[in-house]
Amino acid sequence: MKQILITPKLCLGCRSCELACAVEHSLSKELFAAVIKKEQPTARIFVETDGVINLPLQCRHCQDPACVNACMSGALQRKPTTGMVVADQNKCVGCWMCVMACPFGAIAQDPEYKVINKCDRCPDLDQPACTVACPTGAVKFVEVSRFSQERRKQYLTSFAEEE
Ligand code: SF4
Ligand code: SF4
Repeated sequence: MKQILITPKLCLGCRSCELACAVEHSLSKELFAAVIKKEQPTARIFVETDGVINLPLQCRHCQDPACVNACMSGALQRKPTTGMVVADQNKCVGCWMCVMACPFGAIAQDPEYKVINKCDRCPDLDQPACTVACPTGAVKFVEVSRFSQERRKQYLTSFAEEE
């Protein structure tokens, strides 16, 4: 199964991923209409930077999700068939326990409805919007085995250069 996987050193900090995510989760799913809407849509991927390294990050859809364990209303569930951790905004009571429990800061507040907002991996698309928008491949939608093979090859290259 493909996952959204990150290579921070490739990230330019351009925030194209955040914009594409926000547009995909807007009502119109179009940039112009989304921008002029009174209530602007929000991204579910977040690019953090310390001025040197940029880190694009969104929900990791954990096997044993701390957010689901912390949620008392049943608004957060892990779907065993897909492995996706999904949020039901209608059940969210806005207690923010999941926000405090998630080790990655991957849950945001929906500014319009005052409930949680998190990555849903763009269920209407074949490929999540952030991974399509990223110009450098810093955010990729790939099989874990392929990603780790690429990492091994990169390590081999750096190892060979040191020899
Ligand atoms: S919101 Fe955080 S804790 Fe919950 S599945 Fe995503 S990364 Fe894991
Ligand atoms: S689109 Fe890619 S390069 Fe731009 S901020 Fe997001 S991860 Fe970084």
